[in-house]
Amino acid sequence: MAKRLVILGAGESGCGAAVLAMAKGYDTFVSDYGTIKPNFKTELTQIGVQWESEKHTETKILNADLIIKSPGISDSTPIVRKLQNAGITIISEIEFAAQYTQAKLIGITGTNGKTTTTMLLHHLLQKGGINVGLGGNVGKSFARQVATETFDTYVLELSSFQLDGMINTRLNYGVLTNITPDHLDRYNGVLNKYIESKFRITQNQSAEDCFIYCDDDPLTLNNLKLNKGNGQLLAFSIHHEVQNGAFLNGKEIIVRLNTLNKEFIMPVNQLTISGKHNIYNSMAAAIVSNSYEIRKETIRQSFSDFTNVEHRMEWIARVKGVDFINDSKATNVNSAWFALESMETPVVWIVGGTDKGNDYSSLKKLVKQKVNVIVCMGLDNSKIHQAFGPDVDLIINTSSAEDAVKAAYSFSKKGDTVLLSPACASFDLFENYEDRGNQFKQHVRAL
Ligand code: ADP
Repeated sequence: MAKRLVILGAGESGCGAAVLAMAKGYDTFVSDYGTIKPNFKTELTQIGVQWESEKHTETKILNADLIIKSPGISDSTPIVRKLQNAGITIISEIEFAAQYTQAKLIGITGTNGKTTTTMLLHHLLQKGGINVGLGGNVGKSFARQVATETFDTYVLELSSFQLDGMINTRLNYGVLTNITPDHLDRYNGVLNKYIESKFRITQNQSAEDCFIYCDDDPLTLNNLKLNKGNGQLLAFSIHHEVQNGAFLNGKEIIVRLNTLNKEFIMPVNQLTISGKHNIYNSMAAAIVSNSYEIRKETIRQSFSDFTNVEHRMEWIARVKGVDFINDSKATNVNSAWFALESMETPVVWIVGGTDKGNDYSSLKKLVKQKVNVIVCMGLDNSKIHQAFGPDVDLIINTSSAEDAVKAAYSFSKKGDTVLLSPACASFDLFENYEDRGNQFKQHVRAL
């Protein structure tokens, strides 16, 4: 009898998993407690899978042999609790799909920089002639591609929630960009649980595989002492030379690998993405692309024609001498730190939104140095006032993108930069960070 597979959550990952599950002959059922989008409903019906929207019918779920859970569904929801109590195996779409492909797998995780590094590495490999797919949190789901494409390598962006549902998947390359506290609401406030999830990127690796990590990141280094994994360790650092990995030498990125007969050198001023954080992301991508033995000249060229991902330090316009930058994706304190750190002019900083238990103390020094005016954009801005009130000339409240842009513009001077880098989630005023960034751009363009 066919194995019963139940997929919880019918977004891109769940529907992609359903496509693969049907192709592999599972008795498949898809259940979503929220409303399934019309295009996904149509697809599920077309491939002949049974599905339900806005409910979980327990009798159709608790009889599963295997569950694929969307990374968006928390372990504390009642249905997941019941499945756990019943001892039914719960995996992620990535774990499911990985069983059905022989392709090399590159997984990229970390608190910040996942999407940028994933897109950049995909670009470098593709330009280098590798038959490479892009999946995980970006674009088409991995499972859908395993069912319908024939890539030799996949670059996968992996959130900690996806890693939580990975058991046997072996990643040929695991990249960990950095770790700072985030999403602790989903880990019962326990930072170590979040760190453990991130380190699942190394599980199942063997001596032929590589673990690529930031040698300047305290939480990564602490955990690496306890949990080395079995892969080769390739480090990257801005502060010191590295024997096997990448480092910054003045204004050049150097990649030095035991497997390379010559160092790879990339002048930082030829990168199209700016800021210290992007030097880190570029080093991680440079290590992997060099170990693929792509021509160095091709890699250098591809670094120089990579277009930045939207909503990440995206330059929008210069209006009467004032630059506007959209970094709406900065949804935590650390990403805003890198944004402020990279500023070379006085800043009018638009910040705020849904606070995830932020500790702003690490930003105070940069704010004192660089920020003249703070424009709060959120429903409750009290923590921002408390944290930075004494450090800036002016701090004002707004509660829409339009008011924030107008206020920032009216308080800016020629030569300033208006930076939207909110350090908070967007859900108090916007649908998501894309909506926030798009509204910001629209009002900047209307000035
Ligand atoms: P993720 O997919 O992990 O959320 P993104 O590449 O989408 O990462 O970037 C999210 C935010 O973090 C953006 O504001 C970006 O400018 C910033 N950022 C990108 N890379 C890094 C990094 N290595 N360290 C800190 N912040 C980063």
